[in-house]
Amino acid sequence: MEKELEKILNDGLSAIDNVKSTQELEDVKKELTGKKSALAGIMKSIGTMSAEDKKTVGMKSTEIRKKFEDKFKEKSDELVSMKSVVDENFDLTLPGKSVSGGVLHPITQMCYDLNDAFASLGFEVYSEDDISSEKFAFDNLNFPKDHPARQSMDTYWIEGTEDKEADDRLCLRPHLTGGSVRYLLAHGAPARFVYPGRVYRNETTDARHERAFFQYEALIVDKDISFSSGMVMIQTIFEKVFGKKVNVRMREGFFPFTEPGYEIDMECLVCGGKGCKVCNHNGWIEVMPGGVIHPNVLRSANLDPEEWTGFYINIGLDRLVMMRYGVDDVRLFHSGDLRFLEEFK
Ligand SMILES: [Zn+2]
Repeated sequence: MEKELEKILNDGLSAIDNVKSTQELEDVKKELTGKKSALAGIMKSIGTMSAEDKKTVGMKSTEIRKKFEDKFKEKSDELVSMKSVVDENFDLTLPGKSVSGGVLHPITQMCYDLNDAFASLGFEVYSEDDISSEKFAFDNLNFPKDHPARQSMDTYWIEGTEDKEADDRLCLRPHLTGGSVRYLLAHGAPARFVYPGRVYRNETTDARHERAFFQYEALIVDKDISFSSGMVMIQTIFEKVFGKKVNVRMREGFFPFTEPGYEIDMECLVCGGKGCKVCNHNGWIEVMPGGVIHPNVLRSANLDPEEWTGFYINIGLDRLVMMRYGVDDVRLFHSGDLRFLEEFK
């Protein structure tokens, strides 16, 4: 009997091995373990056997059945993995359908590059709401009460709050600088952080001006910040963004929140400083204001100007992107024109 069982096992396993399709596997399964199989016949006859045979034949038959089942499973997996997922009518030579992929807006790309560059210098990236207040946009930043930027001609005031004051008079932020005091009030000094974002001005649009545009501001506040550390910061950033050394010059500039303030120009990369249409034929492009933080702004942030000092730079992102790609109309970046934007893929 044992020899017979051994034969059933070996013949069965090689029969499963030779199976070529799932249908064939079903047939073999029936043949080996079905009601009319040799194995089932033997198991049925167990009742007529001696007690000792009952035990050995019973155990052996169960073991064989188990081995068959394992083998069925293994074969079934093998057949599934061999089966082609490609339709028989699939024509490999036909050209594929191209999927149209999105791409980051060039201003976003520039913003991310700057974030990386500043992060490598230990700066934190901070953001605040687009809606600010007179207190944060002007009062804290040492803007005189009669400064023209406070007028509705320059700033978009939120309807219903125009006649209020300070915290209650709300506006679309006209610049990012208000975020500096907000950050310093929350985190204290020393601090080094950047705060990119969109700002809004009530002005007529032309090739160089938009009503909403992106700025990128950075501020270091520490006990010993000098003019030269501001200059090093600016040159490092340009070098990282443009991948080469860029000549920079600083001219005196006046901003209520700085003392002294500077206009920072970079050499025109389109003409290399020789003069072209992009740089208005003077070889330099004005890219950002900057300067030493005004003592009154430090006071607004509850910091002692005797103890702390700081350096701002405020990068015009749009203008920097125009430089990077030699684009001569800022309005293109906000046009939503895919033919233009897809050139930055
Ligand atoms: Zn030029």
